[in-house]
Amino acid sequence: MDDSTKNAQCRKKRIAKIKKIIIICTFALIIIPIILCFLLFIKISKLENKINDLMSYTQSASIGEQKAGVSDLPAKGEDKVTNVKITDDPLNNEILDTQELSTDISTIITNENEKKVYLTFDDGPSDNTDLILDILAKYKVKATFFVIEKTDEASIKRYKRILNEGHTLAMHSSSHIYTKIYESMETYIQDVTEIQNFLFDVTGYKPTIYRFPGGSSNTVSKISINTCVSYLDSVGITYFDWNISSGDAVSTPLSTEKIINNVISGVEQENNAVVLFHDANNKLNTVEALPSILGQLTDMGAKVLPITDKTTPVQHKISK
Ligand SMILES: [Zn+2]
Repeated sequence: MDDSTKNAQCRKKRIAKIKKIIIICTFALIIIPIILCFLLFIKISKLENKINDLMSYTQSASIGEQKAGVSDLPAKGEDKVTNVKITDDPLNNEILDTQELSTDISTIITNENEKKVYLTFDDGPSDNTDLILDILAKYKVKATFFVIEKTDEASIKRYKRILNEGHTLAMHSSSHIYTKIYESMETYIQDVTEIQNFLFDVTGYKPTIYRFPGGSSNTVSKISINTCVSYLDSVGITYFDWNISSGDAVSTPLSTEKIINNVISGVEQENNAVVLFHDANNKLNTVEALPSILGQLTDMGAKVLPITDKTTPVQHKISK
């Protein structure tokens, strides 16, 4: 065997070796990602099962708490997540092992237990509307204005500003004169139609949220509120009362401190709070109370929202 034959054989061997390495590398490059995908799939399935288990547990826990009459408000200083008693659950050990999953679940539970606050202003617009809007803008929150019909230029600007700044423009009545509105079904329907058409004419927006003058539980109406509600239903209007009163409707002006206290102590008791304020020229204490109220609501972690068609209505029990 001469040198050239030897060299040729060596070369062949080298090429065969390199081929082998290339084949092994290619194989590894295909197989390893497949194995990783498979492992990942198993991991995801396990996490999904844990989430489902935990969700069904938290649901049954919250039903249990409701049945037992336990308030779903977190106690002062108590973490919202611990409030649903996850730590008592046998699943807990596994959950604590999975930091990411724990964070996701915390988010879900926090959202479910989040305190929602709907600030509502009746009887406007007034000279205070712009001050109220400025404060809401400063705190970057949206509210709901149950307005009445006012045809002056300043008022029309205010209806538009309410809408332009993302608040809910809602109806309170056209005249706000109880004796006239609640005189008969005819006068009632006339008043509702009038305020809706008026607001549409001046803003191009047709409101569908309504608050009865005096609330649906008022005792001044000569007509059946139930009949009024049926009428509102038939024309696609949803009415809202309130479950927290700032107390600013009384004839002797309430102090700013008292208004703040009424609202905050009320919100502490309600997870779905609709707060009644008044937007009127003589209600400056209401305006002055707002920054402190909004500051405290922020500290409580409450979400301040405008009422929309999707908001769960807060309605008083109608007696007639
Ligand atoms: Zn009113």
